[in-house]
Amino acid sequence: MFEFDLTASQGRARAGIFHTPHGDLETPVFAPVGTQATVKTLTPAQVMELGATLVLANTYHLYLRPGDELVSELGGLHEFMQWRSPILTDSGGFQVFSLAKTRKIDDEGVTFKSHIDGSTHRFTPEKSIRIQENLGADIIMAFDECSDPNDPGYTRVAMERTHSWADRCLAAKRREDQALFGIIQGGIDPELRTVSAQFISSRPFPGIAIGGLSVGETKDEMQAMLDVVTPLLPADKPRYLMGVGTPEDVIDGVKRGVDIFDCVLPTRLARHNAAFSPGGRMNLMNASFAHDQHPIDESCQCYTCRTFSRAYLRHLIVAKEMLAGSLLSIHNLYTMVNLMKEIRLSIRDGSFKEKIPTWMERWHGNADRSKIIVSE
Ligand SMILES: [Zn+2]
Repeated sequence: MFEFDLTASQGRARAGIFHTPHGDLETPVFAPVGTQATVKTLTPAQVMELGATLVLANTYHLYLRPGDELVSELGGLHEFMQWRSPILTDSGGFQVFSLAKTRKIDDEGVTFKSHIDGSTHRFTPEKSIRIQENLGADIIMAFDECSDPNDPGYTRVAMERTHSWADRCLAAKRREDQALFGIIQGGIDPELRTVSAQFISSRPFPGIAIGGLSVGETKDEMQAMLDVVTPLLPADKPRYLMGVGTPEDVIDGVKRGVDIFDCVLPTRLARHNAAFSPGGRMNLMNASFAHDQHPIDESCQCYTCRTFSRAYLRHLIVAKEMLAGSLLSIHNLYTMVNLMKEIRLSIRDGSFKEKIPTWMERWHGNADRSKIIVSE
């Protein structure tokens, strides 16, 4: 369980298989986000059909509603949401810092007020692990503190706290059927990132996450940090770049040795009438699509593009029909999942590097990271 088999590599890009209790995950892999134990607007069958193998659910949201103990009573997340493949939960920390109404952090944990009803709660590393054990995902995350990349003075404090909490998470973990990933922090400081990568690598985590990126730093800064971190990581553990990203970002991430990605962007864009397309992000609400009989993307094999015209999608949006969000989510998620599949195949057949310029050319217009909001 939780062995990671590296099956091919090209440069720093890797293809592998991560063994979990709910099946083998082929990597590199992109995980759709199912914040509230649902990938918004889609049934699990639709998410499976578009090719997703891993979904992420958010600990903070599920702890507040319906409550992790209730999820446990109902058989755990897999049973509750009827998703039979691997699930990953985050630690809840990031959402506390980004969503909670007020929060007060100390070395022991963080006290916060719920964004739903203002009630007061406290997360500690031990509490985060208990909640994630109740939820029952295959991959769970250490409780960490993600600092503002533009607040260098605080970055060291947050990183040291993250390291101490990582050890407390390891000590608190009881279930053998869950893989606990440690999280590297260190902002955009190469020295701190080095220290953090070495610290987390020295601990017995079966996988390693890179946190604190795609949170307001530039693209160059993110890539520079990946260049510092991934060469320091053990080859036999999967690496997870949290909250990333766009088609371009995942290509850049794989090139730098990342194996697992997640992002709300595909489903969030879909609910705002936007689709990934080779010409850039397409807003289907645009009046120019009123008579357009083409699919979103002629070359896309997703259900939406095989079946419906831009004109029909625009009609659904204008008429405020819920199906619009579902059909655009299918297309956007398929785009990411299928890109990852192409990437995996290319690493295996040795063509990854030569295909990068074509992919970048194709997806360049979808790269606007300023519009990414990591939490939903
Ligand atoms: Zn499509």
